[in-house]
Amino acid sequence: MSFKNILGQEYAKDVFRNILQKGSLAHAYIFFGPGGTGKSLFANEVTKSLNCIDMDGDVDPCDKCISCRKVDSGTSSDVIRISLEKGRKQIGIDEVRTLQGSAALKPVESDLKTFIINDTDKLSEEAFNCLLKTLEEPPPSTLIILLVNSMDALPETIVSRCQVIRFFSLPVNLVNSYLQEQFKVEKDISEWISTLSGGSIGYATMINDEGLFKKNELLVERLIKLTVEDNFNLSQEIHSWFAGKETPEEKRSCLKIVLELFLSFYRDLLIIKTNSADDGRYLNRTQRRVMEFKAKSCSVDSLITIIDQIIFAINNVNANANTSFLLENLLTNIASI
Ligand SMILES: [Zn+2]
Repeated sequence: MSFKNILGQEYAKDVFRNILQKGSLAHAYIFFGPGGTGKSLFANEVTKSLNCIDMDGDVDPCDKCISCRKVDSGTSSDVIRISLEKGRKQIGIDEVRTLQGSAALKPVESDLKTFIINDTDKLSEEAFNCLLKTLEEPPPSTLIILLVNSMDALPETIVSRCQVIRFFSLPVNLVNSYLQEQFKVEKDISEWISTLSGGSIGYATMINDEGLFKKNELLVERLIKLTVEDNFNLSQEIHSWFAGKETPEEKRSCLKIVLELFLSFYRDLLIIKTNSADDGRYLNRTQRRVMEFKAKSCSVDSLITIIDQIIFAINNVNANANTSFLLENLLTNIASI
């Protein structure tokens, strides 16, 4: 893997080609943009380019030298990554203090020490304050890259001391061909996944790994015949899909994805019912015939009410202690409308 193999992100590539060619590297960068669009991979490639001992042209790392291999395998002592640990809600001050201590020491194997902070929005207030001190007086030979999905979560004092590089959602057709080429996903399924992914390779890969296409086929079947009596069984069935997830956060994330499938189902019905132009979000193409049949028995008003209820449920997944109850309630409400 190297820059030329990263999908899309031409803006970020141009910026860094320029920086690498001119040698005008700043001390700190913020990579921001939707999840799963390649920020972490890009940070990896930047780090490799800065340390590679056998560059392929001006900017592309060779992927083969000892330095490149150590960065790729996560064994370089000069590349330190900080991420939110499973089951924790925040990255605390201790992790940033460790970063500070390490940044004060010279790099061991290369000319530059790189710190990559994933989930920067999860830093506690104390951790942000501690990081600010390092950004205000960055030790020489240090590069800090902060990865974040939304700039809203970052204090202005942090942002003002970094160069900001924006990452964009990828075109859906690019995600589609990636799935077909990389994972040999069948055309119908890859089109479905890439539409749902909204241009995020990370999300698309996860949807593929979780076998959501098949689960959605079952879901569509069940929603077409949904009655009030189904609420408990269907809720339990859906929860069983992510029984293997370890933490409540992972389970909630999966439930949100299933609720997005609910939303797509009713949005598709609305598109059929109102003869709206397909804006590229119509998901259940492979089941168009049964969807059209179902649409005949729904009114536009009822579909809008259901969509509102699903959006409300999605927004309340994190605040709700009992997700089974949330889902049962939603199913009862949908079936009653
Ligand atoms: Zn190399």
